[in-house]
Amino acid sequence: DNKELFTIFGNPVEHSKSPQMQNAGFKHINYNGEYIKHLVENGNEIKNIFLDNAYKGANITVPHKEFAYKNADEVRGLAQKIKAVNTYINENGKVIAYNTDAPGFLKAIESFGSIKSVLLLGAGGTAKAISLALQEKGIKVTVLNRSEGKLDFFKEHNIECYSWETFNPKEYDLIVNSTSAGLKDEYLPCDKNLLENLFKTAKYAFDCVYGKVTPFLALAKENALEIKDGEDMLLFQGVLAFEYFTNTKADESLVEAMRKGLKEK
Ligand code: NDP
Repeated sequence: DNKELFTIFGNPVEHSKSPQMQNAGFKHINYNGEYIKHLVENGNEIKNIFLDNAYKGANITVPHKEFAYKNADEVRGLAQKIKAVNTYINENGKVIAYNTDAPGFLKAIESFGSIKSVLLLGAGGTAKAISLALQEKGIKVTVLNRSEGKLDFFKEHNIECYSWETFNPKEYDLIVNSTSAGLKDEYLPCDKNLLENLFKTAKYAFDCVYGKVTPFLALAKENALEIKDGEDMLLFQGVLAFEYFTNTKADESLVEAMRKGLKEK
């Protein structure tokens, strides 16, 4: 048959929920596609593996997003600035790359009320995507990171950024945790007193980690903020990738089918 094959490249990749989410989407629209996991150790091999296995599309996750960007034939949209991609499409033998994490984040925070200013904790790959997405939307974004080392990218793009040592807090509507603190441990992404002060004037807190209430979100909730974890961000980056994979437009029922797939045990 003409089944199209899709995959997620990562290391590790065993834990990924993308296959169950994407396959639920294919089933929902009766699309003849299958989405599998593909462990890749060397990020520079991603493009060749993609073409050799005749994948129609792929997602790329940690730690390969920058390699995937470098090796693509053509990079489209905001991904050109972010310099990291999470989606590949085979277009007539050419590898086309997109970043759907950035618009996925914007979709995820739509459920909050109006937001004019954001404090973004962390300066890794996810922070790059989120900060440029916010900047493009005209939302004021300030980056705060533990160390100075990763701040060059933000300076180059005229994004206000600080290390813990140089930070002078102001008021922000939304505080976003894009660090991996709290993922597998009980650490807060920065000093507790600082967070409690920020939470006095902020209304919303978002954590990119999904499937658990991190110490960051727990503290925000204690301080009466509206909180949200990374599930919707994961869902919407997947929905946007699905639209590229299948060349279709997602409607509400597809989004809900993919959400259900994501939540399956
Ligand atoms: P990176 O490894 O690129 O960046 C990690 C960042 O976290 C760095 O800025 C690092 O600071 C900081 N950090 C790590 N540990 C601590 C700590 N204990 N205290 C303070 N800061 C710390 O990671 P990514 O940007 O790729 O991913 C970040 C998180 O986002 C992950 O938890 C990931 O699971 C999640 N994510 C969720 C997605 C979703 O769809 N929901 C999509 C993508 C990512 P320093 O520079 O000082 O080392």
